[in-house]
Amino acid sequence: METSREQDSADLPLNAFQGVNPKDSIPKDPHIIDRIRMVDTQIKARGIQDSRTLQAMVKVPRERFVPPNLQSLAFEDRPLSIGSGQTISQPYIVALMTELLQLTGKERVLEVGTGSGYQCAILAELAAEVFTVEIVPDLAARAQKILKSLGYTNIHFRVGSGFEPWPKEAPFDRIILTAAPRELPQSLLEQCRIGGRIVAPVGRETQWLMTYDRQKNGHFLVTKILPVRFVPMLP
Ligand code: SAH
Repeated sequence: METSREQDSADLPLNAFQGVNPKDSIPKDPHIIDRIRMVDTQIKARGIQDSRTLQAMVKVPRERFVPPNLQSLAFEDRPLSIGSGQTISQPYIVALMTELLQLTGKERVLEVGTGSGYQCAILAELAAEVFTVEIVPDLAARAQKILKSLGYTNIHFRVGSGFEPWPKEAPFDRIILTAAPRELPQSLLEQCRIGGRIVAPVGRETQWLMTYDRQKNGHFLVTKILPVRFVPMLP
């Protein structure tokens, strides 16, 4: 058996266990191999290279954010329904958006659309502080409960609309939207710090994942990344 375990670990992504608390030993974490496989086959294989993003996706227990009846699909290459007509994003899209945020560990990040809380946990692993806002109170409550039970202390929750500014906490170094507005609202553009970046799906019938880099003169450099399909941002 020992040999087959060594064989398994030879296939693991480089540094797969870095950043994983040794106290979270493998026998106590029955899904770590599933997550390593998920990262290897869906995320690394599609070109995501940021090692901190890869490590966070191995570490965060995605299965905890998926409804109990969909547990068997937790590591599949697809979004899943989380109730209230909303979804937890496909692992690859979470990884891509996280990599695009270029987090170093010092940033204050605003997330619009807490949803299941999964993306929020990934952000909490990689940034200094996360400010997350969710419009559906039930989802917000459920996400908050799971994230607290996992021990995160750097997440600040708000129930309400991401169209409304969060003046007490703005500006943010990074902003991520996990629901798609028709156009990026002015209120969000204004809350991005100079030198900061926004990552967002934008559009209705056709949506694009976009990045907005705020230049020294306050203007944004806008880049189209790829076509995506997100739930619409509710007014
Ligand atoms: N980041 C989430 C993805 C959730 S899907 C995850 O990892 O699971 C998008 C979420 O955005 C939904 O929960 C939806 O209720 C929320 N949402 C939609 N419109 C919103 C708005 N105007 N303000 C805040 N949240 C909104």
